[in-house]
Amino acid sequence: MRHVIIGSGPAGVVAAETLRKADPAAEITLLCGEGEPPYARMAIPYLLKGEIDEAGTRIRKDANHYDRLRITLVQARAQAIDTAGRAVDVGNGRSLPYDRLLIATGSRPSRERIPGIDCPGVQACWTLQDARTIVARARPGTRVVQMGAGFVGCIIMEGLLSRGVDLTILVRSGYMVRRMMNPTASALIQQWCEAKGVKVLTRTQPKGLSMNGGALRVDLGEGRTLPADVYLSVVGVDPNLDFLAGSGIEIGRGILVDANLQSSVPGVYAAGDVAESTDCLTGKRQLNAIQPNAAEQGRIAALNMAGRPARFKGSFVFNVLTTLGLVSSSFGEWQGVSGGESAEVLDESRYRYLNLQFDGDRLIGANCVGFSEHVGALRGLIEGRLRLGAWKQRLLNEPAQIMKAYLSAAYDAA
Ligand SMILES: Cc1cc2nc3c(=O)[nH]c(=O)nc-3n(C[C@H](O)[C@H](O)[C@H](O)COP(=O)(O)OP(=O)(O)OC[C@H]3O[C@@H](n4cnc5c(N)ncnc54)[C@H](O)[C@@H]3O)c2cc1C
Repeated sequence: MRHVIIGSGPAGVVAAETLRKADPAAEITLLCGEGEPPYARMAIPYLLKGEIDEAGTRIRKDANHYDRLRITLVQARAQAIDTAGRAVDVGNGRSLPYDRLLIATGSRPSRERIPGIDCPGVQACWTLQDARTIVARARPGTRVVQMGAGFVGCIIMEGLLSRGVDLTILVRSGYMVRRMMNPTASALIQQWCEAKGVKVLTRTQPKGLSMNGGALRVDLGEGRTLPADVYLSVVGVDPNLDFLAGSGIEIGRGILVDANLQSSVPGVYAAGDVAESTDCLTGKRQLNAIQPNAAEQGRIAALNMAGRPARFKGSFVFNVLTTLGLVSSSFGEWQGVSGGESAEVLDESRYRYLNLQFDGDRLIGANCVGFSEHVGALRGLIEGRLRLGAWKQRLLNEPAQIMKAYLSAAYDAA
């Protein structure tokens, strides 16, 4: 059996390892599209801070790991897939035949559509190569203007500040991390960043970029400009799908997969940031671009590829974010549902906030700032769809009693 995996991030690597265990005699080829050994993007913030070196970003630290497992690494990008002929075109007239194919190509930074976005000094923060460029350029006093304050935008701030840069964050909406935080949580995170010396300009979107001498000029409209040595563009990500044109593989926002993570084309699977699967709470299709989801989907897809039926139980939306040392998290349907109830507790001076969302006597979502000790209990209650019974009313009165509520509900459910 010939297994080809396109993409050597967490989804691809876990899939290759799972395949080796499940199918000792198979041929396994892992395509690495960036000319790098397999690495984890989530290590990049630590690299920026100088806490690890490049070797520390590798998904597996042992250099012989892939040889030992007889996983062939090929440094090439997939250009196209011939699903009828079962082959991946990797350019230069070369193609890789497969019996089972996994697409684990992840996502790439969304591109801002503004004039000047190709100017020198404009930079994303997604790949190891991006991180190298940022490390080389971010020096004490370097003026960094960062567009975007989503998950990645927030998580990289600590590394930037640790290098002594002068950091200004532009936020298109009124709110930082608005895809995972409600306005109260977002405001707390903003205040925290400002207290650490970051300038945050909300409701601000550049009209264009231009060069002014050796520096960049960021045009904010109405005659306002900002000088910058580096313009970091971190405005979200899009799945890597371009090479699928003409393959017949059905695509929504990502590759549409069934419960076995198989695409619309038999024998072709997808996992990780690129796969559009179902949410375990709502049953709705969605992309869930976080590493634990990628690793789990890689494992499940590989079992199916090896002929061992396995079902993905659906992705659970949760994010834990550290912004300049402030831990915040969001779970499930944190925006609430119609007819639901909510409870919250806020201690602004200590940057602590907890918001709980209920549907009937179930907790369905939460936002937390500074309450890192409750992450496990919140996840357990929400993902486990545990009934709270009498604890629902107690939590409405005292949201911070979440740990006790979890222990009680988990005990009742056992
Ligand atoms: C700075 C940063 C911090 C993050 N922090 C966290 C965190 O704390 N927690 C968390 O859960 N997630 C975090 N993430 C997100 C996390 O890294 C992703 O969800 C995860 O990497 C997804 O894994 P994946 O295997 O699906 O895709 P990726 O890791 O993106 O891997 C995809 C691979 O496919 C390759 N590829 C793409 N196209 C082709 C092609 N045509 N041919 C061959 N290869 C191709 C790419 O080069 C890449 O190697 C962070 C991301 C960044 C950038």
